[in-house]
Amino acid sequence: ERRNPAQPEFHQAVREVLDTLAPVFRARPEYAVPGLVERLTEPERQIVFRVPWQDDHGTVHVNRGFRVEFNSALGPYKGGLRFHPSVDIGVVKFLGFEQIFKNALTGLGIGGGKGGSDFDPRGRSDAEVMRFCQSFMTELHRHIGEHTDVPAGDIGVGGREIGYLFGQYRRITNRWEAGVLTGKGTGWGGSQIRPQATGYGSVLFAAEMLQRQGLGLDGRSAVVSGSGNVALYTIEKLQKLGAYPITCSDSEGYVVDDKGIDLDLLKQIKEVERGRVGAYAERRGASARFVPGGRVWEVAGEVAFPSATQNELGADDARALIASGVKAVSEGANMPTTPEAVRLFQEAGVAFGPGKAANAGGVAVSALEMSQNAARSAWTSQRVEEELAGIMRDIHQVCHETAERYGAPGDYVTGANIAGFERVADAMLAQGVI
Ligand code: NDP
Repeated sequence: ERRNPAQPEFHQAVREVLDTLAPVFRARPEYAVPGLVERLTEPERQIVFRVPWQDDHGTVHVNRGFRVEFNSALGPYKGGLRFHPSVDIGVVKFLGFEQIFKNALTGLGIGGGKGGSDFDPRGRSDAEVMRFCQSFMTELHRHIGEHTDVPAGDIGVGGREIGYLFGQYRRITNRWEAGVLTGKGTGWGGSQIRPQATGYGSVLFAAEMLQRQGLGLDGRSAVVSGSGNVALYTIEKLQKLGAYPITCSDSEGYVVDDKGIDLDLLKQIKEVERGRVGAYAERRGASARFVPGGRVWEVAGEVAFPSATQNELGADDARALIASGVKAVSEGANMPTTPEAVRLFQEAGVAFGPGKAANAGGVAVSALEMSQNAARSAWTSQRVEEELAGIMRDIHQVCHETAERYGAPGDYVTGANIAGFERVADAMLAQGVI
């Protein structure tokens, strides 16, 4: 903590991983070499830069941009960009650190990185967002490349932002280098199913966990938080598999809809109008109500999908969900569940899928996008969806088996951390002290 002051999210993420690694160090002394953990927790490179831009009135704003290139032992750095006022170096480092293990779990040859800015896109015009993205890329372009570092979206960065970022990269470098960014439009190098992949994957992971207990998703009520990219496609996949999602939320409150979420209406408000979930309740009619300032976890559900942001589900929320009979929790967001809440779920026997495993479908399809770009080909949505389903099955399997092998059956947190660690550590040891 003295080395990295004022980075509580980063400390939390590191502690959570290191706390589960003791059995692997005992069983495999080759990992207990001096310096391995120190190297794993120190980014290979941290880039911090000024992002000046002009708003529609001509006023100049100065934001801060970040890219943390954490670990490239398994492949080029890969991880999203987040635009949100809460972004600082500690948040980017926590996300980059988690990304190392998540990417290792996909088995697709990608290293870990993350970036973003404290820019707040909320209420900004398209033109302002474009100018911001252009300024951001004017510095970032010198650090990234299809074989070096491949950013994607995250909170506040979706298809629109990736388009503006790619346009500026292409202009500055005079290269059509599709593999430099993922999450592109399908007409210009993007993969089918990429927007859906994180949410779909999180639901598939929940289905695998339930299946281990002889249960299914069909007919089950689901509580989902957030209303962005991950939440929308979590709701979509839940409905396709016969479950019954009844909530969504944003930073102003949540909606509960007794008839189940009307996904077309929610997509219209969020994806087309860029509006708030409060508007959903106003337009939906009697079945839905908006609870300002509340947390979705007050609503009873058999499966839960935290899909908004870090530390959004605390101990009291976990107690409420356990009391309401929740059977599985699948983290669509990164580190949305506090350590105490995770412990409560595990003690209560609730199947708990950590983000490193449960939300890895997004980065996995990003890696498939890179493959398509390298081959200058475009796969059908059916093919990508099949690949995604296979990858999520494999990730579940490796987490489950690893947990059993290290004496923690059913503990997906331990399974994901150790399985990811083994892959990265093996590559780091083979490549020497660098
Ligand atoms: P979006 O920007 O599309 O949506 C974010 C959603 O979370 C919005 O509903 C937003 O509400 C809410 N939210 C964000 N910050 C807060 C906050 N501080 N308090 C309450 N609500 C908040 O982002 P994504 O859906 O892409 O990302 C959601 C989570 O999933 C993040 O943790 C991200 O790291 C993770 N993730 C995303 C992947 C992807 O492919 N996009 C891949 C893997 C993980 P509001 O509009 O009010 O801010």
